[in-house]
Amino acid sequence: DQLLEDLNEETQSQSLNYGMSLRGRVAIITGGASGIGRAVALEFARHGVHVAFNYFSYDGTDDAEEEAAETERLIRQLEVRVRCEKCDVRDPEAVERFIKNTRTEFGRVHILVNNAGIGRDRALWRLTDEQWRTVLDTNLTGAFHMIRALAPTFRRQHDGKIVNVSSVHAIRSEFGLANYSASKAGLLGLTRSAALELGPSNINVNAVAPGYIRTNRLTSGVPAEILDTARERSVLGRLGDPQDVANVVVFLCSEYARHITGTVVPVDGGHLL
Ligand code: NDP
Repeated sequence: DQLLEDLNEETQSQSLNYGMSLRGRVAIITGGASGIGRAVALEFARHGVHVAFNYFSYDGTDDAEEEAAETERLIRQLEVRVRCEKCDVRDPEAVERFIKNTRTEFGRVHILVNNAGIGRDRALWRLTDEQWRTVLDTNLTGAFHMIRALAPTFRRQHDGKIVNVSSVHAIRSEFGLANYSASKAGLLGLTRSAALELGPSNINVNAVAPGYIRTNRLTSGVPAEILDTARERSVLGRLGDPQDVANVVVFLCSEYARHITGTVVPVDGGHLL
């Protein structure tokens, strides 16, 4: 009886800090202006998390700046603090600046979501050095830059959550995705290594692997037949929405997921079965 009583007391004291409560925390999301990144930023904001995100405008158009401004406006409506900065994740100095500016403005950072990513699809034997390099530099090296720059802060405070946005194509590739699949598979290796090295400092590092997700840019460039096949391959018979991914990312950053680290959660409607 005494043992049961002790156990109950212990469980209760643990559950005081347990749950989805994220209010007041600070999250950095790369590529947060559009698509999945925007959905993640908004979902954090709905949970009372202050949000900093970057955009880059890879294509050099004004669209990215407009999207970033719109995302900022939507987040502000949810009554949390928000900041947005132009920053190329491929550039380590720009990344250090972005993180330093965010720390200065918000005081603390608890969560990092490496979401920035691009595709330059082509048959392997036609891939240029530039197409190979730019995809690896953005999707994989960009995440490394962010983790390296934030690790000292997370280690010092003995508190941090990192989620890397990988892809089902890290696990099962398709024609024309050699550079993309390599980058997203590399991200899974980085996730495991970072989880191993940062775990002792109470930092959880995980990845999500979305299947085809309806976003304006990434899937709008994908031929209709490929999207039809993807819909058929999903045992749920649907393509995902950015919100489907955002829900899982936010869960992984909550205390509900405190005992999950170094793993990858597919968000693919069963695409990989
Ligand atoms: P988007 O193109 O909407 O989002 C990609 C984001 O990454 C953009 O906001 C873009 O900013 C940013 N970005 C690109 N290059 C850089 C850079 N060098 N520095 C900083 N930011 C950069 O596409 P999605 O929302 O669909 O994709 C988000 C993530 O999800 C990507 O990593 C993608 O690989 C992954 N994913 C997507 C799937 C899908 O079906 N949509 C499926 C599986 C994974 P900007 O436009 O300003 O350059």
